[in-house]
Amino acid sequence: MQSIADRATGARVLEALRRSLRVDWRDYAALIPLREDGSPFAVLIAIILSQNTNDKNAITAYRRLRSRVGVRPEDILSAPREAIEEAIRPSGMYRQKASAIIGAAKAVVEAGGERALETLPPEEVRRILEGVKGIGRKTVDVFLNVTRGVEVFAVDTHAQRIAWRWGLAPRKASYEKVSTALASFFNGQDLGEAHRLLIALGRTYCTARRPRCSECPLREVCPYPSRESQSAGQAGDRG
Ligand code: SF4
Repeated sequence: MQSIADRATGARVLEALRRSLRVDWRDYAALIPLREDGSPFAVLIAIILSQNTNDKNAITAYRRLRSRVGVRPEDILSAPREAIEEAIRPSGMYRQKASAIIGAAKAVVEAGGERALETLPPEEVRRILEGVKGIGRKTVDVFLNVTRGVEVFAVDTHAQRIAWRWGLAPRKASYEKVSTALASFFNGQDLGEAHRLLIALGRTYCTARRPRCSECPLREVCPYPSRESQSAGQAGDRG
C-alpha cells in the first residue's frame, strides 16, 4: 500500500496542516473545561459526553450539566440521577453517559479526589478510569493527552479514516494499530495538536463522503487521490 510516509515526513505534514487549518479551542469539547474551569474531572466529563456525537452537542450538554448540576465529583454524586440525565440529554445516549459520569465520580473520590487525577502516575490514572463501565481506551487517551500531556494519539473516526487514506493502516485496523501508526508517523511529538488538526482536516477537506482532494493542502503528498483514480480507471476498463 502506498503511504504518505514515502512522500513526506510527519513534521512536514503537521506544518502544512498548521498553515492551512484553523484550530479553535472553542470547537473542541475536551478543551472547553480545560480553558474555562481548569478542572481535570470536568475535562473527563466533556470527553465522555463527546462519545458518539459531535463536539457541538457535547459542548451544549456540558454547559447544561455545569449550570444545572455542577461538574465536580461531589456535585455529581450528590445530584439526582434524573437531573444529570436531563442535563446531558443533547449529547445522546444520555443514560449510558450518566452512568459513566457517576461511575467516574465514584472512582475518582475513592482514589482520593480530583487531585489524584493530577498527581497519580498516568498509568495508574488509566487503570482507574478504564475500570469504569463506559470509559474506554480512546476516552482515557484523550484525557491523558489533554490534562497530563501524555504523548498518545487518540483515534476517532476522522483519524481512522485519514490513516487509511494516507496508507498508514488498513481500513479496519484496530484502535491500537492506528494509534501506533499515527504516533510513529508524527514521531511521537505534538500528538494532541496533530489529533485536533486531523479532526479539522476531516471536517473541512477529508470528509467521509466525497473528500475535497483537489483543494486539500496535502494533495501533493497524499496517496489517496491517485489510488482512487487508478481504481476508478480499472473499474472503467472492466466495464
Ligand atoms: S482530502 Fe484527499 S488529499 Fe486530502 S488528506 Fe484526504 S484523501 Fe488525502
